[in-house]
Amino acid sequence: MTTTESTDISEPTTTEEFDVLIVGAGISGVGGAYHLTKQSPDTSFVVLEGLDSFGGTWWMHRYPGIRSDSDLHTFGYRFKPWTGDPIATAPEIIEYMGEVIEENDLAQYIRYNHRVNSAQWSSDDNRWTIDATRTDTGEAKRFTSNFLWMCQGYYRHSEGYTPDWLGMDRFEGPIVHPQTWPEDLDYAGKKVVVIGSGATTATVVPAIAADCEHVTVLQRSPTFFRPGRNKDDLAETLRELDVDEEWIHEIVRRKILHDQAIFTDRSFNEPEKVRQELLDGIRPLLGPDYDIETHFTPRYRPWRQRIAFVPDGDLFKGITAGKASMVTDEIKTFTERGILLKSGAELEADIILTATGFNMCVLGDVEFEIDGKPLVFSDTVTYRGMMFTGVPNMLWIFGYFRASWTLRSELLADFVCRLLKHMADTGSKRVDVALRPEDEDMELLSWIDPENFNPGYLMRAMPILPKRGDKREWQHTQDYWREKDEIPAIDLTGSEFVYG
Ligand SMILES: Cc1cc2nc3c(=O)[nH]c(=O)nc-3n(C[C@H](O)[C@H](O)[C@H](O)COP(=O)(O)OP(=O)(O)OC[C@H]3O[C@@H](n4cnc5c(N)ncnc54)[C@H](O)[C@@H]3O)c2cc1C
Repeated sequence: MTTTESTDISEPTTTEEFDVLIVGAGISGVGGAYHLTKQSPDTSFVVLEGLDSFGGTWWMHRYPGIRSDSDLHTFGYRFKPWTGDPIATAPEIIEYMGEVIEENDLAQYIRYNHRVNSAQWSSDDNRWTIDATRTDTGEAKRFTSNFLWMCQGYYRHSEGYTPDWLGMDRFEGPIVHPQTWPEDLDYAGKKVVVIGSGATTATVVPAIAADCEHVTVLQRSPTFFRPGRNKDDLAETLRELDVDEEWIHEIVRRKILHDQAIFTDRSFNEPEKVRQELLDGIRPLLGPDYDIETHFTPRYRPWRQRIAFVPDGDLFKGITAGKASMVTDEIKTFTERGILLKSGAELEADIILTATGFNMCVLGDVEFEIDGKPLVFSDTVTYRGMMFTGVPNMLWIFGYFRASWTLRSELLADFVCRLLKHMADTGSKRVDVALRPEDEDMELLSWIDPENFNPGYLMRAMPILPKRGDKREWQHTQDYWREKDEIPAIDLTGSEFVYG
């Protein structure tokens, strides 16, 4: 790293120069830092993080019960064994990441409270200039780097998505989005309505139901849930046999990925069978008289949206205990005391939680310019969901929906390290991806096929996301099981890579 002084006080006072700049210290950015130090030890780099600590999703979400819905053998890094229960709380994930940072001396690379505002590429210098603001002091900071590694996640961290319902201003109690949970929210003895039935609802309802007078989950349409024990039988057996944790982690990862591959295939090839199995899984937990048809039978094929795991069936225990209930209906208007539904029924509430999802954002809302021209990401075509035509020396981490995010962030970390080495070996300072002659007539499509996966936040964001082509190279396929072989085998001398 080198530092140069500027005398212009309206500008940042210094410019720090690195080979690589990582944006974000969540699971992807911290993993990226680890892999750079191991696989590319001569590379100078810095990680800029807007928050005051590491963890990203797991640091900023503070609602009661916040936990993963993936198992930590696959959501955890491949290089650090996970030794706890498969589904982990946010504090457990933060502790694990803290150990990764400490054990590998990564803290020296991370700058907290550094919010990145803009990134400008100069083809004359083959460098990015990154402007950031210190969120604690307001100080402007400038960095340059040859390569930009965007690990900023996929949703806007400042606020979640809340639809604009009629009469919201009439409601006299608090309306809270779980993403911005007030520390002092007092729900004890209160009537709470939770709008939405995704993974957040499955988490927050069991965590608060016992303390509330009652929790009503209001959903427009049902979601698939998958109850299961929060223990891994194979891991338990291997521990009884005194097998090393490194081995257990690797074996259990393989077993889980093997089972998930079968389940994912089956949900495409025999969706009705899988649907029945999922429904049969919850039936015994809700009892014979429960109206599963209305409240737990989705209209979509399994896996077209994320399937929420319910550890130890805790969501269903709240329902059978009478502390929580499901309502499947639509909102007509909010009222002073609750919500009036289209059916004419009224839900009384002291507090309304809007578990209605995220606002997706493309590359952390950072303003990008290429050689002085603002970059419109929706005009670009993605190379495997990680690079973009016309955007040199930049890679975006966007993980999987049907498998753990970290599986892809580590595959792509290996790819970045391999690409940097290839560039160093060939004396290249710049790499672009470009459509090849054989791609010229390729149909350009929206980022993801809604037939494949269609949660609301993705559908809302389609107009701002880059385009995909109809060949695998030009898509984020969401298919870990093929990408685990395809990405390491990418031919860096292929004509889709243009070096300079
Ligand atoms: C509640 C919840 C539960 C989830 N559970 C799972 C799960 O069980 N399994 C799974 O696979 N996925 C899950 N996901 C998806 C999850 O976001 C990812 O798995 C993963 O944690 C993302 O890691 P990341 O490091 O890529 O991004 P994030 O965790 O989003 O971290 C990005 C970091 O970048 C920083 N940042 C963003 N923009 C800027 C900027 N302009 N300047 C500086 N810093 C910036 C942010 O402050 C943040 O710290 C969940 C998501 C949510 C919201």
